[in-house]
Amino acid sequence: MELQHSISLKPYNTLSLDVKAAYFVRVNCIADLRAARQFCQDKHCPWLLLGGGSNLVLTQDFDGLVMFMAMDQVFWPAEKSLDRISKNFIVSVQAGYEWDLLVEESIMRGASGLENLSLIPGQVGAAPIQNIGAYGVELKHCLGGVQVFDFDTGEEFELSSADCEFGYRDSVFKRHQCWIITQVRLLLSRDTEPKVSYGIIEDTITSQLGKPAISASPQQVRDAVIHIRRSKLPDPKKIPNVGSFFKNPMVSNGQKQALAQQWPGLVTYAVDPKKHKLAAGWLIDQLGWKGFRQGEVGVHEYQALVLVCSGSATGKEVLDLAKRIKADVAVKFGVTLEIEPRLFDNRGEFYL
Ligand SMILES: Cc1cc2nc3c(=O)[nH]c(=O)nc-3n(C[C@H](O)[C@H](O)[C@H](O)COP(=O)(O)OP(=O)(O)OC[C@H]3O[C@@H](n4cnc5c(N)ncnc54)[C@H](O)[C@@H]3O)c2cc1C
Repeated sequence: MELQHSISLKPYNTLSLDVKAAYFVRVNCIADLRAARQFCQDKHCPWLLLGGGSNLVLTQDFDGLVMFMAMDQVFWPAEKSLDRISKNFIVSVQAGYEWDLLVEESIMRGASGLENLSLIPGQVGAAPIQNIGAYGVELKHCLGGVQVFDFDTGEEFELSSADCEFGYRDSVFKRHQCWIITQVRLLLSRDTEPKVSYGIIEDTITSQLGKPAISASPQQVRDAVIHIRRSKLPDPKKIPNVGSFFKNPMVSNGQKQALAQQWPGLVTYAVDPKKHKLAAGWLIDQLGWKGFRQGEVGVHEYQALVLVCSGSATGKEVLDLAKRIKADVAVKFGVTLEIEPRLFDNRGEFYL
């Protein structure tokens, strides 16, 4: 393990927050994780694992070891075996591989399953942490299992998809922060119907192809998803951001009906017969936050759910704005917004 000292994390987080790590290391193999664990035990210092840095807010210099996940091998099944066997196959991918590269390569190999999750930034190993989801598909729909390194005990073990306790932007990993995902097993297929029932996907494909969306290939679905995302979401390389800053809040039937009476046009998604998600972006937009700017931070001009930075903002400024929006939504709608990205100070994770 090659230890570095006092490293700026600005290139390692998509909000471009310029905080320093007291110690920094690239993790290339399990042996590096073991050495890093020993280092933290000897120094009695905290640790933080970074993937692509697209789902976190770093509010202070970190007084411990920051590890960048750099294990990035992919194990595709041999082409020969693919032809012989069935339409379904498994690909194993190390945690540090770029998520969208995997999506692109899986489609090039004729596999479907990941196309709706195109262009989500970050690494494969971080995808199960919040069960990434977009346009009607969540990671849980194609995850076979994960390999884990427990940073507390040094043990390695495998978890099945069921063990991951996936929920909406949630998994068991949020409750076991010492579990580091080192490898992910995905179940793909060469023969599944595209998942195109999500309104905007269906409309985009139909208008782009001039034929029913259900006949679209995985590549055509990917093209549509990329087209939609590029038109709606700021590119973090140009405008620093972490995507959606708030989760869509869950409400009961009664709450939904009461709100809908007061706020005509309320945007909701049925989760089950008793629960609904409210579109957090719609709530924020109604209160006039879209396009808001204050100093180095603001709300994206087209997407009320996305907080943006100038590139020289601090994590505190980002959080202060998030708190104001949360408070406004609580007062006007009686709804509590939950922050989606993970928040870190000088010693580790904290919650608002
Ligand atoms: C423009 C934009 C659009 C986005 N769109 C979506 C979207 O459509 N859907 C969606 O779900 N998300 C979306 N996101 C959020 C983000 O891209 C995902 O959550 C992604 O999976 C984060 O990956 P990462 O490698 O950047 O994780 P990081 O930000 O590096 O880490 C996030 C958390 O996971 C932990 N972590 C990272 N890797 C591991 C590992 N191997 N083992 C254990 N813990 C780990 C970190 O310690 C941290 O707590 C978007 C973000 C941006 C900037």
